[in-house]
Amino acid sequence: MCNAPSDAEARRAIKPVICYPTDTLPEPDMAVYEAARIGAEVVDTVIVPPREAASFTAPAGQFFRITSVEGPQVGDLNLWHANDLSERFFSGKTRALHGTHVTTDDRLWSNLPHMRPMATVTHDTLGWYGIDQYGGSVHDVIGTRCDPYTHNLLSGGQYHHCCHSNLTRALSDHSGLSLAEAEPHVHDVLNVFMCTGFTRDTGQYFMKASPVRPGDYIEFFAEIDLLGALSACPGGDCSSEHSSDSAACYPLQIDILRPAAGTLDRWHAPAVNGYDRSHGR
Ligand SMILES: [Zn+2]
Repeated sequence: MCNAPSDAEARRAIKPVICYPTDTLPEPDMAVYEAARIGAEVVDTVIVPPREAASFTAPAGQFFRITSVEGPQVGDLNLWHANDLSERFFSGKTRALHGTHVTTDDRLWSNLPHMRPMATVTHDTLGWYGIDQYGGSVHDVIGTRCDPYTHNLLSGGQYHHCCHSNLTRALSDHSGLSLAEAEPHVHDVLNVFMCTGFTRDTGQYFMKASPVRPGDYIEFFAEIDLLGALSACPGGDCSSEHSSDSAACYPLQIDILRPAAGTLDRWHAPAVNGYDRSHGR
């Protein structure tokens, strides 16, 4: 351990500044989405079985809603441009812009060089939770997804129903890609309904029982044509462990909703990012 400098306390006392102030971030017009939600009708429903994943598509201008059914359950969400798997959800930049957890008004951003809103959170029945006494909150963009490689590293063995493998199978089934081809497209997730944070003393990623109950939902507006995959995590409500079959697990429901005609006249699909990609050359 290096010796602390004599002015260590003064250095620690420097006030932080926000890395990405959001006052210049284009704001979603929530009034448009609110109007579009009224009278929106369910046009498709997908049930994600426990410890499995399922794919779904949501065209630009429609909503997709993820609902807890039967019992408390966490879901791991991947999103791609429906016609271009190279454009996908960018958990890290979404975190940098909106913080560790997302709720109503926040957006799910796509990776570089696209970097545009893929989806906007339009309703979250767990928005009441806020940040608890442990620093925990719901719907995180800080975890990655449970995966069989980390499980093998820490515990040994071969477990095949981690969210990473579930998402890989779901993408393979939807796209016709082999498992080996599909796997590299699986990416860091939005942990739907998961209650997580970092311990204050050791900075470690923690989880605790999700407050989600049947009937709770988080709803998104698809800003571009989306292909999604959602895994019902083998951790169930993630109150104890994941990467095993020991937790009680429940299905998740995905509904696709089409707004009534004429309610989106003020909405425009976002263009890809305006940077010219010349990188100084
Ligand atoms: Zn998982």
